[in-house]
Amino acid sequence: MQARRWIAPLRSGCSGYDSVEAAAMRYISTRGLGPAQDFAGVLLAGLAGDGGLFMPESWPQFSPSAWRAMRGLPFDELAARVMQPFAGPSIPFGVLQTICREAYAGFGHPAVVPLVQLGTGLFVQELFHGPTLAFKDVAMQVLGRLFDYVLTRENRRVTIVGATSGDTGSAAIEACAGRDRIDIAILHPSGRTSAVQRRQMTTVQAANVCNIAVEGTFDDCQDLVKAMFADTGFRDDVRLSAVNSINWARIAAQIPYYAAAALALGAPDRDVAFSVPTGNFGNIFAAWAARRMGLPVARLIAGSNRNDILARFLASNDMSILPVEPSLSPSMDIQVSSNFERLLFELLDRDPDATARTMLDFRSTGRMAVPDAAWHRARTLIQGFRLDDAGTEAEIRRLHAATGYLADPHTAIGIAAARALPGAGGIPVVAMATAHPAKFPDAMERATGSRPPLPPRMADLFQRAEKFTVLPNDLAAIETAVRALANRNR
Ligand SMILES: *Cc1c(COP(=O)(O)O)cnc(C)c1O
Repeated sequence: MQARRWIAPLRSGCSGYDSVEAAAMRYISTRGLGPAQDFAGVLLAGLAGDGGLFMPESWPQFSPSAWRAMRGLPFDELAARVMQPFAGPSIPFGVLQTICREAYAGFGHPAVVPLVQLGTGLFVQELFHGPTLAFKDVAMQVLGRLFDYVLTRENRRVTIVGATSGDTGSAAIEACAGRDRIDIAILHPSGRTSAVQRRQMTTVQAANVCNIAVEGTFDDCQDLVKAMFADTGFRDDVRLSAVNSINWARIAAQIPYYAAAALALGAPDRDVAFSVPTGNFGNIFAAWAARRMGLPVARLIAGSNRNDILARFLASNDMSILPVEPSLSPSMDIQVSSNFERLLFELLDRDPDATARTMLDFRSTGRMAVPDAAWHRARTLIQGFRLDDAGTEAEIRRLHAATGYLADPHTAIGIAAARALPGAGGIPVVAMATAHPAKFPDAMERATGSRPPLPPRMADLFQRAEKFTVLPNDLAAIETAVRALANRNR
């Protein structure tokens, strides 16, 4: 099949696990400037120096027998093996195993990322059993520990800044709070996150954590973060770093759960499809990566709410920015998906000049001109799906009535997409459950009549004191606050 050959050439006799371990992965920028870096460099840098995103120079692949040998492993061990080709040799395998074991020990389910069957050929994979009840914990709990390991080895400190529409921030804060060598400042759009999401960030009292509520949208927050990185004097002064979804290590740490689901459903001997509620395109890009590593991912569905730029792109090659509108699924209230540049780079045959040109053009015109051939390549694997708030609420209600399952608004969009776009040939579809329903009690109550309780460890969230600063959408004001955080011990 033509599309399959283009996307994941499975070389015969390609390396199994042992030989992959010895390889030294290098990372290049999607915009082609600057030297290749190793995993530790990419981890600490976040964004590449030329404004591009880091990508592995080539895709590591596991042979079918190497994949088969990973069936049935505990998730932490599987995660270490799947990440090792990306992390080595910066992170020795034994260290990675320990990091993964510790990262997932605190999850609220023994399978870490359990699969639940909802119907014939329809599954959800629950990615929300971590400390902040959202899928970002799966990667963040690994990332905080990777940072600690590398910074201690290099005797350095960093200041992490990030923009969040809700979940990234709390997951990053949980991963970094109280760590010796990290300060963390998280920007969120004031008034546009749910109360639970905000409180999960602002009730963390650690001295190395600074929450900033920006008077603007999530895209404004993201632009401020990009502007801080572009301000080289500031960047060097506070030793800026990022853990948001542009950080390659986060993508790498999200690949293992796709592998776990695929292997459980018969891969590499049986195809599988994934339906992913999509915002910054980080989660779904990890599924793309899993396919490039040799897993038979036959199809991907990118779910959107009313902020449907990706659905419009996939349907009609219309990638034009509209104003961000709030919805029931705030973590998907995004117009510019920061990880889309990684997909674009792949679709353009990894041509960095074409990628840079397209992205700069997109920035200045608000419309991305993707060549038709590249668009067709995207469509051979990825389908878009859009669901407005009324449809989302109806899906939550329907699912609860039919199966008793409680899906949060993000997850419900993925499930609705999987039902609306059934694949051919009985290929199972796994909808990624990205948040615990208790994070969105109002939407759940409207749809089902009751508010799902928070798990016991968070039951007192609304009694805890909040700590945050409200600032205008102004780079200088934000930089002053971040400097104060970074300099507080000097
Ligand atoms: C972050 C998030 C998403 C979007 O994931 P991306 O990697 O940004 O595409 C979807 N659902 C929830 C609950 C999230 O927290």
